[in-house]
Amino acid sequence: MDNSGVYNKSREEILTVGKKYNIPQNKLEEFLQPDRIVEIKVPVKLGSETVSFKGYRSQHNNNLGPYKGGLRFHPGVTKDEVMALSLWMSLKTAVVGIPFGGGKGGIAVDPKALSEKQLEELSREYVRKTYDVLGYDKDVPAPDVNTNPKIIDWMVDEYIKLSMMNGKGSTPLNKLFATFTGKSKNGLSGRTEATGFGGVTVLKELARKLKLEPKKQTVAVMGFGNVGYYFAELASKAGFQIVAVSDSKGGIVKKSGDEFIPLDIPLVFDCKQEKGSLAGCYCAGGVCDTRGGQMITNEELLNLPVDILIPAALEDVINENNMQNIKAKIIIEMANGPVSPAAYHYLTQKGVIIVPDILANSGGVAGSYIEWEQNVEDKKYKKEDVLKRLEKMMQDAFENVWDQSKKNKTDLKEASYLVAINKILNQ
Ligand code: NAD
Repeated sequence: MDNSGVYNKSREEILTVGKKYNIPQNKLEEFLQPDRIVEIKVPVKLGSETVSFKGYRSQHNNNLGPYKGGLRFHPGVTKDEVMALSLWMSLKTAVVGIPFGGGKGGIAVDPKALSEKQLEELSREYVRKTYDVLGYDKDVPAPDVNTNPKIIDWMVDEYIKLSMMNGKGSTPLNKLFATFTGKSKNGLSGRTEATGFGGVTVLKELARKLKLEPKKQTVAVMGFGNVGYYFAELASKAGFQIVAVSDSKGGIVKKSGDEFIPLDIPLVFDCKQEKGSLAGCYCAGGVCDTRGGQMITNEELLNLPVDILIPAALEDVINENNMQNIKAKIIIEMANGPVSPAAYHYLTQKGVIIVPDILANSGGVAGSYIEWEQNVEDKKYKKEDVLKRLEKMMQDAFENVWDQSKKNKTDLKEASYLVAINKILNQ
């Protein structure tokens, strides 16, 4: 995707909201500009050659606490992209009410073209080059696109080694661990499902406000990875009828005549694990068989006559080309930016309620905050306590945004921006 100018587009969007609500433009301009952007070369030995990849860390704003945000390894990573993503992190942490600011970083590299050893070297070199700007009380990275707990564990290990050499040795080990979240070692029980869990909490709150009975709501979920799978499983447990799911290769539905048959999500998951794809995993009511099962494309999934649509895979999947075909009355943006601004406007005008990503998927960063706190306080939290706390955080965040939208008679995206901007500028 061409991301050129994405930071400016994001900036304009926020400035427009600021103007509408008479937020002082100079204060807003000051906030929008990242505090610092670190640009580095990350050399890695590939065979007999050493190749340098471009790396970044954008520390956007720390009015509310240390910079917080993921690190992505992807050929499309640019300075502009990390600036925009770090701005969205500043807004997201504020919406969900955690004492963190916003940051984002990455390396412009295709990690799939590297061996495991080269990937480890790349990860460790990134930490060596950014060591001075990181810290549990300064800037706390996490996994993002193409990075995972294993990569984060290498980074923590390197960070601890450097700290021992560079005089931060007096910082207790637990606080050194707190410098990164999304770890497998000393990580948080419950972090894996945190984003999906947070999204389902938001959906339940919305259903309560709208007086919708979960068992009468049909739901289609695009994406069956970390976010999509847990969303589908937990929403199904909460009584919603998950009638379609998909991954990059396409999706499945099961029908009896015109009626959808709700899918048995854990069984669909097991079937996909076994077969490597969703094709044929028509599992419902404890059995998987082909009766009424149908493969659909991702585009067809988006157009299904369901009540609720959950884009949980990629950005910009609902856009000017397909917005007229959307039949759902509720969309929960579990991926980052799955509904383009034009489609958001069009669908909202038509009465569709769209929960924006900075609220809907903020359970991930809220979980990261709990992980950070657990490390800083040198404790070990139980999963049930983590999820209970996360639920309350998401309920409060939803309530604030909902109240703001009622007060200003506006949609949930604009309301989320207002909640975030007011917190950041008035702290
Ligand atoms: P993931 O890699 O675990 O899963 C992605 C899923 O999307 C996979 O099932 C994949 O098959 C599917 N997919 C890929 N291309 C597709 C296509 N063209 N059509 C349909 N499906 C496709 O990723 P994830 O962690 O679940 O993240 C999904 C989205 O949620 C991303 O936008 C991510 O930035 C966002 N997000 C994730 C978290 C988190 O905690 N994981 C937090 C906030 C936001």
